[in-house]
Amino acid sequence: KRKKQPSSEELSDAILKGDKVALSRAITLIESINPEHTHKANKIIEACLPSANNSIRIGITGVPGVGKSTFIESFGSYLTSIGKKVAVLAVDPSSSISKGSILGDKTRMESLVKNDNAFIRPSPSGDSLGGVARKTRETITLCEACGFDTIIIETVGVGQSETAVHSMVDFFLLLKLAGAGDELQGIKRGIMEMADAIIINKADGDNINRAKQAKVDFTRALHLYPPKENDWTPKVITASAYEKTGIAATWELVLQYLDLTIKNRFFEHKRIQQNKQWLVQTINERLKSNFYNHQEIKTSLTQQLELIEQNKISPFAAADYLFKLYNRT
Ligand code: GDP
Repeated sequence: KRKKQPSSEELSDAILKGDKVALSRAITLIESINPEHTHKANKIIEACLPSANNSIRIGITGVPGVGKSTFIESFGSYLTSIGKKVAVLAVDPSSSISKGSILGDKTRMESLVKNDNAFIRPSPSGDSLGGVARKTRETITLCEACGFDTIIIETVGVGQSETAVHSMVDFFLLLKLAGAGDELQGIKRGIMEMADAIIINKADGDNINRAKQAKVDFTRALHLYPPKENDWTPKVITASAYEKTGIAATWELVLQYLDLTIKNRFFEHKRIQQNKQWLVQTINERLKSNFYNHQEIKTSLTQQLELIEQNKISPFAAADYLFKLYNRT
């Protein structure tokens, strides 16, 4: 006999009491494509919202192999040692294609996985970055309601996903390696501008001197950018997850940033801006999915595509036709 599924009230009550099992179950509902699950998830999110928002959200990006997972294992463990409750989430739209997430890799977060004050969830899968980002955004709310005061969101710095993550965090960290002289060339300009701090990672062994030089170079490069509206000057530090250096210093930077931006009210301002942006994005996502999942539209779209193939209609006329049809239904 199947066990009765907990109701949305039971789940939200348990989440608010700090129950990680309930948290996991609710996130599974968020990630589900079953409309009933979505409905249940929305009720849970609504119940959790008043208790959310009380956290610091940190984004961490960097190319594969830069050491994100290993860094998060050290950083997260350090944070729990000073009394923080840490949730680690990931945004990786490619994982839906490869079916195996390379982010939030629990094998490299062994001690964090076992840590009572940590919660790790790999990237949700989804057909679009927008979908994956929305699910993560909702998951943040539940983690905060569950008592996690430090939310770390990991993403690969190779596509658009870092922009999505940037739009849901307070502080954005870029992990870099000291390269062979051409440090500044491999970086996408946009990412450098988004970073509140750059960490030159794997600054250990033979790498130490190169890492120190890279720190000087990056600091100089960052000074060429116009000052940010929040008055924060992005900082560069070196770190080694192996030797546990630069870990406490990273948290110090976050605290300095918080101190400055809470005083000058940028922190609050940015969150409000992000919420506005999320409202618009959610509407866009929903309009799109409502449209494409509409039964009549699905049929007509196929027909219109055939007409286009036969050169019998222009794409604009076809779109017009479909919108008229959609608005009538
Ligand atoms: P990710 O793909 O960015 O998550 O990177 P990983 O955390 O998987 O690390 C990639 C490789 O770099 C692994 O072989 C790690 O053992 C190694 N690595 C990670 N952190 C450090 C570090 O601080 N120093 C050194 N020397 N190697 C590291």
